[in-house]
Amino acid sequence: METILQVRDLHTSFLTSNGEVQAVRGVSFDVEKGKTLGIVGESGSGKSVTSLSILQLLGSTGRINSGSIKLDGEELTTKNKKEMRRIRGGRIAMIFQDPMTSLNPLIPLGDQVGEMLWEHKKEMSKAERDAKVVELFRMVRIPEPEKRLKSYPHEFSGGMRQRVMIAMALACRPELLIADEPTTALDVSIQDQILKLMRSLQQEMGMSIMFITHDLGVVAELADRVAVMYGGLIMEEADIFDIFKDPRHPYTLGLLASIPDMNQDKSKKLQPIPGSPPDMIRPPKGCPFAPRCPYAMRICADELPPYVSTGENRRSMCWLLDPEAPETGNPFRNKK
Ligand code: SF4
Repeated sequence: METILQVRDLHTSFLTSNGEVQAVRGVSFDVEKGKTLGIVGESGSGKSVTSLSILQLLGSTGRINSGSIKLDGEELTTKNKKEMRRIRGGRIAMIFQDPMTSLNPLIPLGDQVGEMLWEHKKEMSKAERDAKVVELFRMVRIPEPEKRLKSYPHEFSGGMRQRVMIAMALACRPELLIADEPTTALDVSIQDQILKLMRSLQQEMGMSIMFITHDLGVVAELADRVAVMYGGLIMEEADIFDIFKDPRHPYTLGLLASIPDMNQDKSKKLQPIPGSPPDMIRPPKGCPFAPRCPYAMRICADELPPYVSTGENRRSMCWLLDPEAPETGNPFRNKK
């Protein structure tokens, strides 16, 4: 399988008045061409900072300290601002949670999508751009697209605004779409429609997607592969089927227990993971999940576990997978 994005040993931090936040602490993964990688984790896990690092949108306080990010073999970490501007919105497009913050309330939606085309395809005339915007609106199933060119953001519902953002993202036929919590602010039924739209557009265009979310349930709808992040690290990475069928990390188990199940007895309460994420200014030297992990052992607080292969093309970072880990109470026993 060919890879569109290859991230290796990425370390990213932010300077704050309280100290340096070590948001991403050595993350490696691939996004395969035409496939979707879901990056899942709670807020503060480092998932969004990973995507902002890829796009070099870290602001004045953030920086990539080390690591490599390659887009179809081309290193991005050494690109200058101008080169990255061309890549963003061109070869890599992005959609964020709240379309209102990305859309200008004073400019008609057609012009805003047209502007994106103009940025990257200056040779297009205004008429050609308008025709292309209508085509894009039609692609993202916006009804009566010709009439909608002159609409303003406030005239659209949240779901429709997100469709405009997707149209804008697709304007230059990106090789990779990075979507950061694109459906979190939407009602469940609209969320479902947007996920279905993204999936069918991906099939039509053969584009690769990196989908960032706190919700493992959402990832199940779209992803081929999942990386579960916590404390700036990938805790577990596997194909979507394996993550749901046979999770091999206590944090993944905890996330799965907190997903509503349609067939589940409604009187049975969902179980959020008790406790709070680690302080990333002084990240723990051992497993970052140790204070919240029901299986934590003495070694967990002292030493970061190594990655262990848990099957074909999957890995986890947990001391329970060590050959010397105790058998009793070990949810992964007999699975090594
Ligand atoms: Fe829990 Fe230890 Fe595994 Fe971390 S390494 S997830 S604390 S058992």
